[in-house]
Amino acid sequence: MGLFDRKICDICGGKCGLLGGKKVKDGRLCSDCAKKQSPYLPGRKNFTVEEMKQHLADRERNQEMINEFVPTRTIGRHLKLYIDDGSGLWFITSTRRYQDDNPDLFQADQVLGARVDIDRDEREVVVQAAVPAADGKPGKPAVTKKVIEYDFYVNIDVSHPWVNQMHLKVNRSTIESTMGPDYRESDRDSKEIVAALLAMRDGVAQMKQEAAMPKQRVTCPNCGALTMPDENNCCEYCMGALN
Ligand SMILES: [Zn+2]
Ligand SMILES: [Zn+2]
Repeated sequence: MGLFDRKICDICGGKCGLLGGKKVKDGRLCSDCAKKQSPYLPGRKNFTVEEMKQHLADRERNQEMINEFVPTRTIGRHLKLYIDDGSGLWFITSTRRYQDDNPDLFQADQVLGARVDIDRDEREVVVQAAVPAADGKPGKPAVTKKVIEYDFYVNIDVSHPWVNQMHLKVNRSTIESTMGPDYRESDRDSKEIVAALLAMRDGVAQMKQEAAMPKQRVTCPNCGALTMPDENNCCEYCMGALN
């Protein structure tokens, strides 16, 4: 074995980079294969080669579905939530040409939770440098100013074979004031994205609950019989419409 013999990718059989590729539990991936994985996969080293093969096959299927995806609505300006209300599928990304990014697709009932997380960073910046004492004149201390910066994030918990959690930045660039439109709009985007995700989750939960609820006998307003509504919500005796 020469010094420059490259290691082989356990997924595609291609050559790994000079540094030996990306390690998984029981093997390695080349960078081309590693690039195809979900950015939200929790730690590549936790997965075996077989699991990574399954994951990349799922990612290929995801790409096909993304290519066919037609959103009925989008929420947000920079970070965008894409929803197809017909199928209940959704994804979230800040990449404009999202097909290139293959964002993970989720179903409405895969939302476990969502919340806004505002990152506030406070620091002192020097606006005027210190002047050292010289020629018998006293020096001057540096003039500093307190700067507070904000970044908005949404944290989303999902029930999905490969993704548990996403931590996504809402604003494009760091916000330096709570007064401007950037803060206001990022605040609104964050809240609207979270509200839409929770509405999907709660909507599905409610539908499941209603479907699971046993039908109850009602008194028919037409014939007065105690009747079980049929599939058209009509009386089983007189066929009259119930309510
Ligand atoms: Zn490979
Ligand atoms: Zn009746």
